[in-house]
Amino acid sequence: MRLLVATRNAHKLAEIRGLLPGVEIVGTDAFPDVPDPEETGATFEANATLKAEAWRDATGLPALADDSGLEVEALGGAPGVLSARYAGTHGDTAANNAKLLRALEGVPAERRGARFVCALALALPGGATRTLRGECRGRIVEAGRGAGGFGYDPLFVPEGEALTFGELPAETKARLSHRARAFAEARRAWGLGTH
Ligand code: IMP
Repeated sequence: MRLLVATRNAHKLAEIRGLLPGVEIVGTDAFPDVPDPEETGATFEANATLKAEAWRDATGLPALADDSGLEVEALGGAPGVLSARYAGTHGDTAANNAKLLRALEGVPAERRGARFVCALALALPGGATRTLRGECRGRIVEAGRGAGGFGYDPLFVPEGEALTFGELPAETKARLSHRARAFAEARRAWGLGTH
C-alpha cells in the first residue's frame, strides 16, 4: 500500500515511517504545488480530517494526517487545537510555555491535570474517512524542566512518572506518548503497517 503522509515536518515524517513499518510512505515534498489547507477545525479530529481529505483529493492517494496538542483541565481544555499558536505566533514555544505557566499560577498540584492528544485521519480514495485518537495523561509542573523533546514537553509529567517529557529519555516518551498510542491503534484497528 502506498500512503501519503500529510505533514511538511521532516522530523514527524521520519518518526511516522518508524511507526508504520512495511508501509510505502510518500511525503508531501513529492507534490510541491499542492497548498496546505488551513487548520480551521474545532477539534483535533476535524483538523486531521481536513488535512487528510485535502491531500487525498489533490493526489488520488490514500492519505494519513495527524493533529495534536495539549488539553489542560483547569483551563477548560485550552490550549487544545490552538496549542501551536497559544501565545499568538505559530510555533513560538518559549512564549506558549510561558503563557501556560502564567495561566496556571497559584493552581494547586491536584488541579494541574492535563493530557496530550493525537488524532489521526485516514482518507481513502472513493471511501469514507476514518479517525481515531491516542492520549497521554499527566500533569503540568510549576516551572519547566529538561531540554529533551519539543513544545510543551518540559512542562508535562506523564502519569506514573516523576520527570517531565523534557527530562525523560526519548525512548520513554516514544513508548508513552499520545502519538505512539494513536499509531499503535492505527496498526491494530486499520491494519496499517501489517501488510
Ligand atoms: P501539530 O499537530 O504538529 O500541529 O502540533 C500542535 C502543537 O501541539 C505543537 O506545536 C506543540 O505545541 C503541541 N504538541 C503536540 N505534540 C506534542 C508533544 O509530543 N510534546 C509537546 N508538545 C506537543
